[in-house]
Amino acid sequence: MIRSLIDLLRNLQSEEDCRLFLENIRWHGVPVCPHCGSKSEEHYKLTNGGIFRGLYKCKDCRERFTITVGTMFEGSHIPLQKWFIAIYVFLAHKKGISSTQLHKDIAVTQKTAWFMLSRIRYSIRYNADIDFGDITQVDETYIGGKNKNRNAGKRLKNTRGRSLKLKAPVMGLLSDGKVYVEPIPKASKWILHGVINSLVPKGTTVVTDGWYGYKGLSENYVHKVVDHHRGEYVKGG
Ligand SMILES: [Zn+2]
Repeated sequence: MIRSLIDLLRNLQSEEDCRLFLENIRWHGVPVCPHCGSKSEEHYKLTNGGIFRGLYKCKDCRERFTITVGTMFEGSHIPLQKWFIAIYVFLAHKKGISSTQLHKDIAVTQKTAWFMLSRIRYSIRYNADIDFGDITQVDETYIGGKNKNRNAGKRLKNTRGRSLKLKAPVMGLLSDGKVYVEPIPKASKWILHGVINSLVPKGTTVVTDGWYGYKGLSENYVHKVVDHHRGEYVKGG
């Protein structure tokens, strides 16, 4: 799992690195035809000039497909690494990012940056019908202005960590390479459990950090806890 921008730049340099990363998180190594749903290791790998670049032909319905069919990356001709950096930057800037800024950050035209941001926003907002896979990573965060930027009289004391009252909390659920974002009134245990129980299939694996609000998930799920600060990642996930 990519935990930082440095991780991303180091591990996902070439288009092939990025494609394999996507194939791994969406297919877990076995290609799935997006046209007929056939899952098989025997789909044909089509080459161009003797080189395979991720174009498959379904052995059942004979349609061609790549890992990006049905995703925000489909048919864009923008290198996947630029997409990944854009998503990273988008998620890291909780106040939002403008197309003028993104265009400078990843060296694309402003029109392309605008197109990418609209697809990223759409994908993240409208994945409510997300199919949760075997592993779901859950985290919660706060969206809103920085406390230090508020008027002195309105600033909160002791606002570090999860007790922030001024920001709007949201939960993010990541599964099979898709993100579902759910605004929540506060990051309390019953709300976190309620969202997970209503969305994520029972018996699958849920990965969270050590926040006490996630305690007790093991009643319904295989609950794995990672420590953000030590940069742990989920093995095989
Ligand atoms: Zn097919």
